[in-house]
Parts: sequence; structure tokens; C-alpha cells
Amino acid sequence: MTMKFQNPVSFASAVNLLKSGEVCAFPTETVYGLGANAGDAQAVLKIFQTKERPRFNPLIVHCADMGMAEEIAIFSSTARHLATLWPGALTLVLPKRSNAKICGLVSAGLDTVGVRVPAHPLAQKLIRAVGLPLAAPSANPSGRLSPTSVGQVRRAFADKVAVLEGGECSAGVESTILGVEGQRVVQLRSGALTREEIEMHLGREIAIARSGAPVSAPGMMASHYAPNAKIRLNATGAKAGEAFLGFGDVSGSGPMAKNLSPAGDLAEAARNLFAHLHELDAMGANLIAVAPIPKTGLGEAINDRLLRAAAPRK
Ligand code: AMP
Ligand code: MG
Repeated sequence: MTMKFQNPVSFASAVNLLKSGEVCAFPTETVYGLGANAGDAQAVLKIFQTKERPRFNPLIVHCADMGMAEEIAIFSSTARHLATLWPGALTLVLPKRSNAKICGLVSAGLDTVGVRVPAHPLAQKLIRAVGLPLAAPSANPSGRLSPTSVGQVRRAFADKVAVLEGGECSAGVESTILGVEGQRVVQLRSGALTREEIEMHLGREIAIARSGAPVSAPGMMASHYAPNAKIRLNATGAKAGEAFLGFGDVSGSGPMAKNLSPAGDLAEAARNLFAHLHELDAMGANLIAVAPIPKTGLGEAINDRLLRAAAPRK
């Protein structure tokens, strides 16, 4: 018999589930995460099984603060400087401590670990109450749209997964991932913290990983973040039968049009991206035409998600 949860679950239930080796979805400022005790191999296995996630794709470990992060990863002076941007939408891939209490599955057998201190107050409170680092990828079936609300998590998993309610995610796209080796910094994934902000903080430019680069992010599959509908990029408008996802002006784009940001604001567009794609899917769209989005600032992360959503699927 498969368990069905009365979602959203209470804070106390979420803590109990996580302490007892179960998974529980929780809010962060980026997207909802599917959490489990990072030190418990059976619990982490449940994340991979629930998401049907390939085992070679490592998980980000969420910590309450720098103290918890230092128990699992080794910080160079540059990593320490970057970590002053925490709490926030930044993941650092760092050498894993040999005595780190996290299971091998979390980092897919690599000798590095992805660490983040999320800023969402409920995520903070949850990690502190559990008292352990939580492995948490996005709370969606592998390869599909990430969830930015409880409703989207519930629809994806039909209440077979417990979800803690924390409103709509304020950033709406995943964290930016940086690989740090000594003083060398490589952006492995664009995300909610812009490269411009990171470079300003560091006072220098950072490299961007290409596939096959020395430091790689194993999970960066070409097809990812896919809605049910197919995606057509850089569209100036919707053709007959197409839904439209616009940026700025969407007038005359037909009955199935959504606007990422009427004011042309990239932060608002990032916040709406997954939610609007979920809604167009729910409306039964077969093909979504998407307006061009500026490539600077948060546009880098938005365009990355759209390119992967549009990529040919297996
Ligand atoms: P998700 O949790 O779905 O946002 O995916 C997390 C992503 O973080 C993975 O797909 C990897 O690309 C990246 N990641 C996590 N840990 C590591 C690591 N140890 N080395 C390289 N990339 C990592
Ligand atoms: Mg994900």
C-alpha cells in the first residue's frame, strides 16, 4: 500500500519524518526541495527513487550555517570569501572532508560535495530543528519542471510525498553552482545569484564550465526542466494553436498567453518561469512559444532553463 499524506504537513511532522529517515519536501527561496538526512544512505536512496533520478547526479547538501557546512567540506580562503554571500541561492562544490557524516550516494561517489546555506526562514528553522545537513534536490520527477509552490509538488507526486508549506518561492530558479578548487572558481550552473553579483563580490571574473571542462557538474543534462508541452524559443508571437510565454507585451498572442513580466523585470520573470510553464501545461498546451529573454543578469539562468526545456527529449 502506498502512503498518502495529508498535505501540507505540520512543521513537527516534517521534523519527525526527516529525523526518522523519511523524505519530506520543504520550501527554499529558489524552488521546493525534496529533503532527507544526508548522512542516511537509505533516506538518500528514497530521494533518488522518488525522483527517478540517475544515481550519477549528485545532490546539494543544505546546511543551517557555516559551522554545519565546515563539518562536511573543506573551505579554501576563496571558498570562505564566497561563503560570506550565504545564506542565499549559492551552492559551492568543495572538497569533501574525509570524516564528513554524509553518505557516498549524496555526492555520487565524487570526492567533492555541493553545499548551500538557504535563506528561506522555514528552511533554516527546519535544518536547525532536525540538527543535520539535508540533501535536497528539487522536488520534482527527474528532468521535469521544478516546483515553486506546494500545489506543484503535490501534483507531481500525488501526495505520496509529505510537503511543508512555505508559500511561493521568492527567487523561482535554482541556486547558482560554483566549483571552487583552491583559488580557482568555475560557474557550473547559472542560477538565482547572478554571475555579475558574484564577480562584483570577488573583484574578478569567473570561468564558465563548458561540457568536458575539468570541473564538471555531472547533472547538467541537455534535456531538463521539461514541461509536457514542447517549447519553441525566441518567438515573436504565437502561431495558430500555440500557447505563448511572453516577456513585456503579450497583447494579441491568443487565449493561452502568460506574461513572465509585464514590466520586463528579470527577477519577476525568474519568479514566474516555472509557475507559468506549469500553468500552461495544466491548460493543455501542446506547444509553448517563448519570447526572447535578455541574456544578462538573471536572464542567464532563465535562458539556461529554457534551452534545456526546449532540448530534444529521450
Ligand atoms: P539539483 O539538486 O537538482 O538542483 O541538482 C544539483 C546539481 O548540483 C547536480 O545536478 C550537479 O550538477 C551539481 N552538484 C552537486 N554536487 C556536486 C558535486 N559534488 N560535483 C559537481 N556538481 C555537483
Ligand atoms: Mg532539479
